[in-house]
Amino acid sequence: MVHRRGNLDRRELLSATAGAAVLAATPRLLKARKRSKVIVIGAGLSGLGAALALEEAGLDVQVIEGRDRIGGRVLSHRNVPGNPESGGTSFAPGYARLVSAANDHGVELIDLTPIVPFFFQRELFLGGERIAPDAWVSHPRNPFPEPLKKLMPWAYLGTAAAKNPLTTNEAWLDPANSALDIPVSEWLKSIGWSDDAIHMAYDINPNWGDSARTVSALMVLSALKFQQTQQELAKGKAMGYTARDGNQAIPEAMARALERPVELRRNVVAIRSDRNGVEVRCADGTRYQAEHVVCSIPTAVLRNVAIEPALPAEQARAVRELGVQAISLVHAVPRRKFWEDDALSPNFVSDGLINMAVAERKGADPKEVTSLSLWLRGENARKLDRLDDAEATAAVVREFEKLRPAAKGQLEVLAYHSWMRDPFSLGDWAVWEPGQVSAFARIVGKAHGRMHFCGEHTAISNRGMEGALESSERVALEILDDA
Ligand SMILES: Cc1cc2nc3c(=O)[nH]c(=O)nc-3n(C[C@H](O)[C@H](O)[C@H](O)COP(=O)(O)OP(=O)(O)OC[C@H]3O[C@@H](n4cnc5c(N)ncnc54)[C@H](O)[C@@H]3O)c2cc1C
Repeated sequence: MVHRRGNLDRRELLSATAGAAVLAATPRLLKARKRSKVIVIGAGLSGLGAALALEEAGLDVQVIEGRDRIGGRVLSHRNVPGNPESGGTSFAPGYARLVSAANDHGVELIDLTPIVPFFFQRELFLGGERIAPDAWVSHPRNPFPEPLKKLMPWAYLGTAAAKNPLTTNEAWLDPANSALDIPVSEWLKSIGWSDDAIHMAYDINPNWGDSARTVSALMVLSALKFQQTQQELAKGKAMGYTARDGNQAIPEAMARALERPVELRRNVVAIRSDRNGVEVRCADGTRYQAEHVVCSIPTAVLRNVAIEPALPAEQARAVRELGVQAISLVHAVPRRKFWEDDALSPNFVSDGLINMAVAERKGADPKEVTSLSLWLRGENARKLDRLDDAEATAAVVREFEKLRPAAKGQLEVLAYHSWMRDPFSLGDWAVWEPGQVSAFARIVGKAHGRMHFCGEHTAISNRGMEGALESSERVALEILDDA
């Protein structure tokens, strides 16, 4: 059945891709028939997007949130100069929904175009040794074939994009492509990559999974396709954005626009639904009754929430087993510009404990470094999770000083965030492991009676923050169908 609302139908909505500014406006075209009450669990982007859409359609909405802050996996450190991010970091002009949310709610965006060239000035450290770009071409550890030897490891994965068999943002879900639900390492080998090239281009700084062996090719190829769509949509526009007071300002402004304030510190432990309604129970004993519930809880947390009646077996398995990205960030302020002493860029990528160091330039002058963000991914993040915070940050500083002796005594650590240890995330973005796209992607976000699921892990056409907002539109439409 096709549900037509205003000028759009559901199929059009779900097949629309990243550029669909019209999608962001869609909820305004809708009106519910009655003022149903909806509980939204989670004040991240997807929960807030759903709440605003439902409220605008005339429903009575209450958002409840487990943490004592708004934003979920969008987390800006206001105690560090420049408000660096430990979560959603930057976004492109093709993030139509997120840009609209910022504009609609009065959040000023910073154009990152002047900063981008600095971002790609990176040093490479392998086995503790710095390898300069001109030495890299003939370095014995360079595994890339001629004529691509001049590419630095972080630029090499992009060459696979030219052979990407996925032609649309949604093609990763097409059963016709399910043969690609294999480790991305296998797909890379099938297009001629050596094991060493895969290790160098993927494993030393993995964006998805712990290594190319642990993630589905469908996930990586769909992410590459999404990036390509974003690049096309950004042509002639800004190269990226971040919000003036940190990206967390966007969900915070969305929360302020709600009729009812978000109730914080409501850690949901159980959701029960029957023909008449839903009941949501929190660890502190608070209970909420409503006609529908929107649940934006990430799967790694949701698997510990009691759901009654139980989810269908395959959906329950999806919630239980869907992979998550291990990632931690350390934010430090340099006491001195040590990179002027060693005459290197402050940014680097390494195959050691610190996967990536990024000099943030969030002040008035892009030449000025406001702080350093140190990224720990996959196995490195898990290794740090076995230490307490003081030991973990000390280990990171030691590693930094080993690679950059000029930085000795110059780093003041102001923030550290492990997403795996954060009880309201227990990991970062969903990682579709080999076989999981075919098994889980179409069912993980399926409505279950009066329970409706959103969140970046349920997105179809978009990823990250834009995916979270895409999912909020889908879930709002689901409820409005019933309301
Ligand atoms: C390091 C990092 C870098 C990133 N970089 C980018 C980027 O550059 N671009 C991009 O687009 N995306 C990026 N992302 C991803 C993006 O931030 C997320 O995909 C997006 O914010 C997820 O939104 P969500 O609403 O789906 O989930 P969340 O933001 O996690 O929202 C879920 C909410 O539910 C709450 N909750 C959880 N459990 C309970 C419970 N039991 N009871 C009550 N409440 C609960 C949580 O506290 C949270 O507020 C990044 C993320 C991280 C961590």
